[in-house]
Amino acid sequence: MGRPKIVAGNWKMNLSISEGQKLAEDIHKYSQLHLPGTNVKVIVFPPFTHLSTVGWVLKESEVKLGAQDCHFEQNGAFTGDVSAPMIAGTGATYCMIGHSEHRANYNEPNRIINAKLQAILRQNMTPILCFGETASEKKAGKTNDVIQKQLNEGLAGISRDQISKIILAYEPVWAISTSKDNLGQPATPQDANMVHQFVRETIKTMFSPDAAQKTLILYGGSVKAENARQFLSLSDIDGCLVGGASLKKESFCGIIDAATVPQ
Ligand code: PEP
Repeated sequence: MGRPKIVAGNWKMNLSISEGQKLAEDIHKYSQLHLPGTNVKVIVFPPFTHLSTVGWVLKESEVKLGAQDCHFEQNGAFTGDVSAPMIAGTGATYCMIGHSEHRANYNEPNRIINAKLQAILRQNMTPILCFGETASEKKAGKTNDVIQKQLNEGLAGISRDQISKIILAYEPVWAISTSKDNLGQPATPQDANMVHQFVRETIKTMFSPDAAQKTLILYGGSVKAENARQFLSLSDIDGCLVGGASLKKESFCGIIDAATVPQ
């Protein structure tokens, strides 16, 4: 079987715990009916406060649980932070890092994102490393340079064995619907696919041709049920990371539906 298609829902700082519980139940029921026999994986990323509750809902589910970030230390005097072992204890098996909102709001350098990535791997969870250029970087023709730096520094010290345990997510900052920097529209699927091909080439140079073939690269930025298939049908797009459209059963399940259609 080839690379799976991933549908990942980033709830950001939205939904009450009971709303999150209900949404997780609905996604679980939908997935129970529609995922068997497909090569599609679904992951939801609720806020930290919802992880245990949603973790219980998804305990026996095909739908997997992830956190939106973590601290790189295991424990200590880090008020307001949550560590990778704490996240693993909720039943989460994925953890996102390097999301552009987190990079911008916390002024987070690649070096810290790399330390987080290592902390997640130590817990045997799967990191989803987000990266992407801003509107001004794109305008200045620096997309590839910016991405290369984010990957070189974000994946520093990662071995050939470890790269297969990491998922990458290309999220052009200007395409994220809630970003202050956005153009209010997704990348065209063809442009996104070209960046994904560049990312695969970069992984080939950094690791190996085999690693490049196996690495899952998601696209994120204004994906909806209406446009998901255009992204998911392209050769180098292995799934989508969805923000706004992941908050409602109808839109998120519509994206799952687009992913399950044979390519
Ligand atoms: C995101 O922030 O990860 C994202 C992709 O958001 P949206 O789908 O709302 O653009």
